[in-house]
Amino acid sequence: MTDQVVLGIDVGGTSFKGAVIDETGRTLIAGSIATEGAQGEDAFAILERFVIGMMAQAAAQGLKPAACGLISPGMDERTGHVMFSSNLSWRDFPIGPRLTASLGLPVLPGHDVRTAGLAEAQLGAAKGFADSAMVMIGTGIAAALVTGGQAISGAAQMACELGHIPVYPGGEACACGQFGCLEAYASAASIARRYRAAGGKQALTAADIAMRLDSDPLAAKIWNEAVQALAISLVTVTLLLDPAVIVIGGGLAEADEVLLAPLRVALQQRLAWRAAPPIVRSELGSRGALLGAAILAFRSLGLANAASGWQSGG
Ligand SMILES: [Zn+2]
Repeated sequence: MTDQVVLGIDVGGTSFKGAVIDETGRTLIAGSIATEGAQGEDAFAILERFVIGMMAQAAAQGLKPAACGLISPGMDERTGHVMFSSNLSWRDFPIGPRLTASLGLPVLPGHDVRTAGLAEAQLGAAKGFADSAMVMIGTGIAAALVTGGQAISGAAQMACELGHIPVYPGGEACACGQFGCLEAYASAASIARRYRAAGGKQALTAADIAMRLDSDPLAAKIWNEAVQALAISLVTVTLLLDPAVIVIGGGLAEADEVLLAPLRVALQQRLAWRAAPPIVRSELGSRGALLGAAILAFRSLGLANAASGWQSGG
């Protein structure tokens, strides 16, 4: 049975992505559009035109999406409001209700990292495990803790802000206003900033720094400090949730074993009395959010296990 299709929409800070996905997990139509710096109502107008355009493309192929999964950072999954987006200048912005009105079909809101974690648990690197953790390391750091097929969202939809759990109390200032947060040491942006602040001669990205660990002692030092800070956070994750696997995603995951191998060692060294869970790289990568959006939409149609047979490569 492959007649049901859904629309997945991924609202990023600089671009919007969409896909029409069928019950077997196949992407039938895909598209994206750059926001080109649009903010506020202008940004919403671009999003609305983009989504209506995706629906028109679907109709031209005889497809009629039955629901829309809508993913964004800062999403309140209860209301469909984006609580805060600095790139799009949205504050408590009701994109879910407004798209429901303009599309005339159910819109299921999802938080970007939690939905990506759910997708990894359903069909990616954490498939088959009831309890898993996903840590997204990019410009910032956030996590998803998935248990019993649900990503924990919290009473105020603010769960799993791993990047802002202090690893060194009273440590370096974080952009959030606290001190010693994980994000201040281990996000891609912080690794680059700390390398420069420590006397690095060039403005290197975290990816550049990861490539010169053998030849540049300062790069190796800053990288190791990021790994140690991450390991401290993963001790907390391990002891709090007891995940079967920890999945690492986001831009920094592209460093692959340069990050994961020392992280596995550091985590085990810091866990005195229990074995560390495996640490693996995300299988779905940047497609995780859209696939997660489709999973949310299929669940709303009563197809709770729609993704159980999907292939992560599809
Ligand atoms: Zn912080």
